[in-house]
Amino acid sequence: MENEEELENQYSICTTCGYMGWPKLKIIKHKSYVDEFIVVLLASLITFSISEIFDIDNFFILFLICIIAFTLEMRAYESKYQKKTVRVLCPKCKNPTMIPTDSPKGKELVEKQLLKAEKEKKKSLGIF
Ligand SMILES: [Zn+2]
Repeated sequence: MENEEELENQYSICTTCGYMGWPKLKIIKHKSYVDEFIVVLLASLITFSISEIFDIDNFFILFLICIIAFTLEMRAYESKYQKKTVRVLCPKCKNPTMIPTDSPKGKELVEKQLLKAEKEKKKSLGIF
């Protein structure tokens, strides 16, 4: 799968409304209780190991370590392992019908759009 940044920077055209520009990405994250349970379990394990290694029995400090471990793990998990669906949406009509302008179909559409725009321009200038 292409990465999100690549998709977002891909100049595209909308097959529904003809909008040309950069698409809007909508990321849908899939929640998994099993994964979250593992994250919590790991955070507890890390806290337990640290308390054993450094011989810490201050509850407040252990609580802080646990929170930090959990936050860091959660961040790593969300950026690397969490399953997510990336939808490429048109910023104008909100349809998931944006295609890259360098694809064959995209090129065709861009040409059509340009021809249309040119005609309209000429019309407004009163040439035809
Ligand atoms: Zn559109």
